[in-house]
Amino acid sequence: MIVHKYRGTGRVVVFFTRERGKVEAVARGVGKPGSKLASLVEPLTLSNLFLAKGRELDHLTEGDVINPFYGLRSNMRRFGYASYIAELTARATEPDLPMPQLFEALRASLEALEGGARPDIVTWGFALRLLGQLGVGPVLEQCANCGQSLTGQLRYSPSAGGLICGDCAPAGGSGGIALSGMTAGLLRCVATFPIDRLSRLSCPPVNCEEIGQLVRRHIEYHLDFVPRSQRFIQEMENSGARPDEGDEQR
Ligand SMILES: [Zn+2]
Repeated sequence: MIVHKYRGTGRVVVFFTRERGKVEAVARGVGKPGSKLASLVEPLTLSNLFLAKGRELDHLTEGDVINPFYGLRSNMRRFGYASYIAELTARATEPDLPMPQLFEALRASLEALEGGARPDIVTWGFALRLLGQLGVGPVLEQCANCGQSLTGQLRYSPSAGGLICGDCAPAGGSGGIALSGMTAGLLRCVATFPIDRLSRLSCPPVNCEEIGQLVRRHIEYHLDFVPRSQRFIQEMENSGARPDEGDEQR
């Protein structure tokens, strides 16, 4: 959830809900000490919310926290990826457009991250689901350009919409990114495995980084933005800080 400043001690908060999709609501008085709404507007918090219709925006009146996901805040790497997932959801979705499957994927992703799953794989798995739900998911089973089976040197072309075959690669132009058959196979797995089982996928870091690059390029091309939190996670990965947990899990 992204919190915007608002007059005085109130805030405009972006929530992603199961029933209504993205909702922007005013939370009055959350800046005051002891506000009963303060815990509900913490980023990365799962809650039951009561929203009252306002003139322009709804008003958050009360609610109950179901899962504060404390485990995401105590680890920079998990927090970075979880923030990326939240920002991607907030920026890619339309207000008041219910997307219950995406809501469940979001919840499963945050639970997996908190449970120690590899943050990168979970994040790319979530992003692929989000793209699919928005109707711009990558074509991975046949050539995105000619529709034939994938043979020859594979490339990935965000503008063509996914994997392209060896015959189409020149037509893919400079947008095509070469990738190995192994990365292509793992990309299909990341796109289709249930999120709570992605950690069992044996994906070497080099292939996972390639998958991340393809997903990020696909997002930039089809959604036309780069999440601000992307820089944070890339700097964290480039610094070689791979401190945790989970990386050894299969
Ligand atoms: Zn082709």
